[in-house]
Formats: sequence, C-alpha cells, structure tokens
Amino acid sequence: MSAPRCYLDYNATTPLRPGARAAMVAVLEATGNPSSIHAEGRAARRVVEQARAQVAALVGAAADAIVFTAGATEGAALALSPTLAGPTAPRGVRRLLVCATEHAAVRHGHRFAEADVTVLPVDRHGVLRLDALASALADDGGSPALLALQAANNETGVLQPTRVAAQLVHAAGGLLVCDAVQMAGRMPFGLEESGADVALLSSHKIGGPQGVGAVALAPGVVLGAALVRGGGQERGARSGTENVAGIAGFGAATLESRDSESDRLAALQHRLEHGLAALDAEASVFGGAVARLPNTTAFAVPGMAAETLLIALDLAGLAVSSGSACASGKVARSHVLDAMGVPAILAQGALRLSTGWASTAADIDRFLTAFDVARRRMRKGPLPIAA
Ligand code: PLP
Repeated sequence: MSAPRCYLDYNATTPLRPGARAAMVAVLEATGNPSSIHAEGRAARRVVEQARAQVAALVGAAADAIVFTAGATEGAALALSPTLAGPTAPRGVRRLLVCATEHAAVRHGHRFAEADVTVLPVDRHGVLRLDALASALADDGGSPALLALQAANNETGVLQPTRVAAQLVHAAGGLLVCDAVQMAGRMPFGLEESGADVALLSSHKIGGPQGVGAVALAPGVVLGAALVRGGGQERGARSGTENVAGIAGFGAATLESRDSESDRLAALQHRLEHGLAALDAEASVFGGAVARLPNTTAFAVPGMAAETLLIALDLAGLAVSSGSACASGKVARSHVLDAMGVPAILAQGALRLSTGWASTAADIDRFLTAFDVARRRMRKGPLPIAA
C-alpha cells in the first residue's frame, strides 16, 4: 500500500477546513436565493450576512464594506480601476503603480490602460524600493496614483512595507490596494494596520472553498463602476446570485484561521530550513534575510532543476511547487525571482514549500528525507542507508 500523500503547497490552495465543509453542506442541503422574500430566501440571506460579518472581522472592516466576489482575481479586476475613490483621492485615480513581484492577478492592471501602468522595482530581498515609489508618485505632475502592493508574496512569503507605502501614497493624494490573499488568516492583517484602502481576499488560501473571495473597503472608500452588472446584488458592486455555499464556507474558514497558528507554522518553517541547511550547505532560501510569512520557504540548490526534483518528490508522494504554479501546469520562469535579481541558473531550481492548518512536523521530516534521496540521485551520490 502506498503512503498517504503529503501536501505542502498551501500557497496554491489549501485543504478544506472541517468547519468550512460543514457550513457548505448545510447550505447545499437547503434551498433559497438570498434575494427572495420568503422564509427560504431569508435563511439564505442570513447565511450570507453572517459570513460577511465573519470575513469583515478577519481584516477589521465594517460588514457593509465587504463585497463578495468569485475570488481574488475578480476582486483585483473590480478594485484596480481609475474610478476607485477614497478620502485621499475623492475624484478617483489616474494611474496605477504595481510592485514588480505582484501576483499575475494584480500585475494584469485590469481597468487601467497599459500606458498608465508603472512597474516598481524591489530590492534583492524582494522588498518594494520605497525610493522608487516616492519618485514614481512625483512623476506625471504628481497626479493621483493607485498603488497595488501585496501584503505577502505567494512565491517567497516576503512581507511588504504596506504601512509606510500607504503613508507615502496617501500624502501624494493616492490610494493603496493591498493583495492580502496570502497573509490574511495566516498572520494578523488589518485594513487599518496595513494602511490599505482596499484589501483583496481569497477563501481557498485559508481553508475555504475555491471560487470565492472578497474585496474589503476601508472607511470612505468607494468602488467605482461595477464589473459584473445585473440584478444589483452586493449593493450593486457585484451582480449575480450569490454563491451562498461558497460564501458560507469562506466565513466559517475565517473562524478557524487563528492568528495564533503563526507560531506553530514558524516552528515548522524553522525545522525545514535548519534541516535543509544541514543537508546541503549550498541551499539558499529566497528572501531568507527579511520578514516572511511563517508558512513559506522558497529555496534552490545550485545545479538542481526544479522540474526534475518536483517529479521525483511527486512520485515519492509529496506535493510541492516550483516557484509559481502556472495555469498550463508547466514550470515557467519566476517573475518574482527575476525581479529580485536571482541568477536564472539558480532560479530554475526554485522549489516552494508552503504549510498550513493540517501540516505537521512529520510532513517536514518526510520532505527532508525525500529531498535528500532525490538530490543524491541527481548528484549520483550514495543513497542513505534505511534505518
Ligand atoms: N493573489 C495572490 C497573492 C495569490 O496567491 C492568488 C492565488 O494564487 C491570487 C491573488 C488569486 O486568487 P484567486 O485564486 O482567488 O483568484
């Protein structure tokens, strides 16, 4: 009998938390459109509003400042618009500044013309260069700009200085949209603390179902033109009958996403990174010198191709990722490592491990053993003697 799979790819997606599953099953067993007046409809509406309050509590937003979407990609498409307005930019914004390491969902720029999008560099650790932000804000006569800056990177886990960036952007009459997909629910993240005007959230990164997310708005922030128009659901910001089961699962997952889990995940990260260093002194952790998510380790060993390692690990029952997952299932060059100036020869060996609510120390040990076997095979060295 083959050993159970060992899943270490939580930044791609997470296993469904038991509470999220239970909340979804309860909805699937009922019938009701939240817009209907009858008892069934009112019950569905209660489910949606309860989840709205739960998601709002996760990021310190008001419940009526949450707009449910079909995920963070749609959230980005909704928020990244010249019509987004807020206390520091009451008439909207003219241009978009994006950090070079943003997820494709954000880098796309959405409702900004390509000519109005400026990509801002990061330093070699993957942290936004605030000097570049300050000079970009002064460009174009200092016209109001929207900055898209993620809270934490999905490939390296590197945290961004959102609060300082927000101060600069606000002082220049602009706004900040923060992709908090990888941070909210894993570490404390609040709209106020981050300085963000808008936070993008995704359910499936915190143990909820796929295909549901939210946009959270700070006080006084107004989304401009809706993207999906129709029946006027979500106060007109996102029409279409709500994904009630998905929303219920998202809400329940927030309850189970304890901030205190960051200590447990940090201990696993420590175990992994010390284990790696002991196995191979040449293993380098990307972003290892700066603040990172406690669940993410991206590393490479010179001379080892990620694709080969990934396949060997998969055959050994382990699910890890090489850099960023891509839609085609092919391993593409990482724009994040490129932006950090990682040499291509090292970047092509980048592996990412990301842990979460069901990960254990045994998973880490199993990875280290399998990795050691794979790397010895690749280096054609002797195999370890089985205990
Ligand atoms: N932003 C980041 C940092 C992500 O990691 C992802 C998902 O991979 C997204 C946005 C897109 O989220 P969703 O899958 O909900 O569209």
